Amino acid sequence: MAEPHMIQDPQGLTGAEIHRLRAEHGWNELPRGKRVSAAVVLLRQFTGVLVLMLIVAGLIALALGERVDALAIGAVVVLNGVLGFTQEWRAEQAMRALQAMLSPHATVIRDGQERVIPARELLPGDLILLAEGDRVPADAETLREVGLQIDESVLTGESVPVSKITAEPLFSGTTVTSGHAEARVTAIGTETEFGRVALLTGSVEDTPTTLQRELGILARQLGWVAIGVAVLVAAMGVWRGLETLQVFMLGLSMAVAMVPEGLPAVVTVTLALGAAAMARQNALVRNLQAVETLGAASVICTDKTGTLTENQMTVREIWTRDAAYEVTGSGYDPAGHVAQGGHKLRWGDDPVLDRACHVGLVCSHARLSREGETWVAHGDPTEAALIVLAHKAWAPTDARAPVIAELPFTSDRKRMSVLELGEGGGTVLTKGAPELVIGICDRVLTAHGPAPLTDEGADAAREAAHRMAERGFRVIALASREASGEMIEESRMVLVGLVGMIDPPRMEVAGAIRAARGAGIRTLIITGDHPATARNVADQLGIGAKRIVTGAELAKMDDAALAETLSQPVGFARVSPADKLRIVGALQALGETVAMTGDGVNDAPALRKADIGVAMAIRGTEVAKDAADLILLDDNYATIVGAIREGRRQFDNTRKFVRYLLSSNAGEVVALIVNTIMLAPLIFLPTQILWMNLITDGVTAVALGLEPSEKAQMRDPPRASTDRVLSLGSVTVIMAFGLYTGAAAVLLFEMLRPLGVDVARTAAFTGMVVFEKVSVFAFRSLRTPNWRLGLSGNPVLLLAFAAMISLQVAAVYWAPLQTLLQTVPLGWNEWGMIAALSLPLLIVPEILKSLGLFRGRAA
Ligand code: ATP
Repeated sequence: MAEPHMIQDPQGLTGAEIHRLRAEHGWNELPRGKRVSAAVVLLRQFTGVLVLMLIVAGLIALALGERVDALAIGAVVVLNGVLGFTQEWRAEQAMRALQAMLSPHATVIRDGQERVIPARELLPGDLILLAEGDRVPADAETLREVGLQIDESVLTGESVPVSKITAEPLFSGTTVTSGHAEARVTAIGTETEFGRVALLTGSVEDTPTTLQRELGILARQLGWVAIGVAVLVAAMGVWRGLETLQVFMLGLSMAVAMVPEGLPAVVTVTLALGAAAMARQNALVRNLQAVETLGAASVICTDKTGTLTENQMTVREIWTRDAAYEVTGSGYDPAGHVAQGGHKLRWGDDPVLDRACHVGLVCSHARLSREGETWVAHGDPTEAALIVLAHKAWAPTDARAPVIAELPFTSDRKRMSVLELGEGGGTVLTKGAPELVIGICDRVLTAHGPAPLTDEGADAAREAAHRMAERGFRVIALASREASGEMIEESRMVLVGLVGMIDPPRMEVAGAIRAARGAGIRTLIITGDHPATARNVADQLGIGAKRIVTGAELAKMDDAALAETLSQPVGFARVSPADKLRIVGALQALGETVAMTGDGVNDAPALRKADIGVAMAIRGTEVAKDAADLILLDDNYATIVGAIREGRRQFDNTRKFVRYLLSSNAGEVVALIVNTIMLAPLIFLPTQILWMNLITDGVTAVALGLEPSEKAQMRDPPRASTDRVLSLGSVTVIMAFGLYTGAAAVLLFEMLRPLGVDVARTAAFTGMVVFEKVSVFAFRSLRTPNWRLGLSGNPVLLLAFAAMISLQVAAVYWAPLQTLLQTVPLGWNEWGMIAALSLPLLIVPEILKSLGLFRGRAA
C-alpha cells in the first residue's frame, strides 16, 4: 500500500471517464478457455460406452419391431440422462460460483479514493497501487516505485526478479516480489502482453482426484468382470434357445448391472457440492482434490498473526533505556494516552518518547480512517498500531518531511528502514524484530542524547524485549541515525526503544484446536514472531507446545534431529519462509498429511509443497493465494478445522454410497447367476435391470451422499493416505448384502412361479428394488445404529426412499409403466412376502452395529 504523498495524480479516473472507457475497452479479462454450457453437460450424459450401447440396442430393437423394448430402453436412457444432468449441472454451478469468488482484486485510486475492486473492472488510465505479493493486474507503467522487484517468469521464463524503475513497463500476470509502486494501467484484457502470449484457463482445476482415479480403476476392473459374466450369461441364454435380441439384451443388462459406471461422476458431484458447503463456511477450495485431501489431514501448521490471533494490534507499553511508559486505549481508536508512572505525557515533554513515536509514524505505510463510530486500519496492523501510538502521544502527524527511499520489510529480514529528508538533512529510521535491530545499533538514545550501547546495555534491551514477549506482546524495536547520503545504511544506529503491542487470541480458536486434537490432528504453531510471544499464545490457546524451536536452532539441526524434534510437541518461532518449506518436507517424510498456512510471496513454495496449502483472503498476497489449495475468507484457524470436518464427511459419504451401490449390483448379479444356473425362466428382464440400476439406485445413492457428519467422525484419527475407498471389510459387507438380497429375490421367484412367470418375475423385480432401498439405511453408517443416528438427520434420504418405493408401486400398477417394464399387479400376499424378506435387512445390521461387530473393520 503506498503513501498518500507518493501519488502525483491523486484523483485517478472519474465516474464519467470510467463509463466512456468501459464502452471503448470492455473488461480486463481473457476469454475463458472452457466454460461448459448446459447443452454440453446434457450431451455428456449420453456419451458413456454403456449408454451408447443402450442407445444402439434400443435402435436395434426398434428395427426388429420390438417397440416396447425400444421404448423402455429409450425411457431409461432419457431418465438417467435427466437425473445425471441435474446433478452435474448443480455441481458445475457450484464450481462456477467458487471460481468467481477466487477472482483476483486490484487496489485503485478512483475519484481520489483508494479502493479495492475486482481486477476485471480495471481500465486503461486507472491508477493502481502495487505491493509485495501482488499480481500485476494489467499492463501498466510505473509512476513511482520503492525497491520494486518483479518476477516476470510467466512471460520470460526467467525466475530471477527484475528491478523496475519509474516509467518502465509492468506486465499483466507478473508478480511483485518486493517493494511497492504506483502505476498507470496502459492495456487490459486481450490487449496485454500476457493476453497475447497466454490463454488463461479457469483457476479451479479439474484434474481427477485420487478418489476419482481410484473409482475409475474400480469401474474398469468391474467392467472386465462384467463382460466375462455377460458373455457367460448370454452363452447360457443361447444354449437355452432364447432369441438373439433377448440374448443381446440380457448380456447388455448384465453388464449394466455390474458396472458402477456412474460412480466417478457421482463422486465429482459429491465433491463439488462439498466444495460449495465449505465455501459457505468461509473456506474456498481451489480444486476438488483439496476437498478430499483435507479429510486426511493429520497436521495443521499454522502461523500466528491473524490466524490464531485477531490481528488487531494495540501498543500497550514502551521501553527506553531510561524509562517505561504505559499506553491506554483500545483497538485503532486514537483516544488514549501515553503515561509514565501514571503521569500523562504530551508531545514535547520527553524527547526519547517523541523520537520513538516519530520513528513509528514515518517508518510505516498504514493509514487510519474513521468509518462511522469505528476507526479502521488500512495496511499492516503492526504499523497501524504505531500510527495510533503517535496520535495518542500528540505527535504532529500532518506536516511530515518526505521519505525518499526505503528498504522494505520482508519476513526474511524482519525489519524495515526509510530515509526521511528533513530540513537538517537525511535520517534513517528503522523498525523491526528486536534481535535484528539491536544487533545493528552501537548507540542508545537517552534523555541527554545518544550514548554508546554497551554489551550490558544491549543485553538489558534484549531482556526487556524477552519480558514483554513472554507476556504475549509483539515487540518492535525502533532505531534511527543520521544519513550520510541518499543510501540507507542499516548499521551503527541509535536504539530508540521498544514498543510492546497486544494482539488478542481469537476466542473460537481454542475450541477448534481441541476439536482438531480429538480428531487426531496436531496443531503446530510456526511463526515469524518472538519465541516467547509464540509460547504465550500457544499456552493461551491450549496448543500444548512443550518446546519452542527458533529458526536459528532449526538451522543447526540435521534431518534426523528435525524428525526427532517433530515427533514431540513443539512449536517454531522466528522462522523464515524457507524454514517452513523444510518443516513441511520433514513432516511429510514422517508420513503426515500436512496443511500449512502462509501469506507472503516467499511462502508460496511451502504452500505448494504442503498437501494442503492454506492462504488467507484478507492478509494473504495474491501469490500465496495462487499457490494455495484452500483459501480462508476469514483468515481464521477455526475455519481450517471446519473444512477438515467437511472433507472427512465427503470422504465418508463417498464410501457409503460406493458400498451401497456395489451391494445393490452384487445382489442383482447373484440373482441372475443363480437363476441362470437353475435353468429357470429369466428372473429379471433387461429393462427391469436398467430400471433398478440407472433410476432407483442412483437417486438413493446421491441422497446418501448428503448424510450429515457422524459425531464420531471428529473423534477418529485421520485416515492414512494409503486407505482405499474399499477395504476388505467393506467388500465382505457388500458380499453379505449381495448374497442375501440375491438369494431372497430367487426365493420369491421360485415360490411364486406356480402363479405364473409374470407374477413371479414382477415380485422378484419389485422385491429386489425394495431390498435395495431398505438396505440404504444400513449403509448410513456401518457402526452407528439408525436409532442413534436419528432419521431426521438426512430428510432427503427419507424423501428419496419414499419416492423410489412409490415409483416402484407405479411400475407395478400404472398401465404405461406396466407395459414398459412388463409387470403385472401384485396382491397383498406378494407384498407381504417382500416385506417379510426385507425385515432382516432392516434389523440384522442394526443388531450387529449395536453389538459393535462392524467397528474397526469396515468403518
Ligand atoms: P506469523 O508468521 O505468525 O504471521 P508474524 O506475522 O509475526 O508471524 P512476520 O510477519 O514474519 O511474522 O514478522 C516477523 C517479525 O518481524 C515480527 O515479530 C516483528 O518483530 C517484525 N515485524 C513485523 N511486521 C513488521 C513491519 N511492518 N515492520 C518491521 N518489522 C516488522
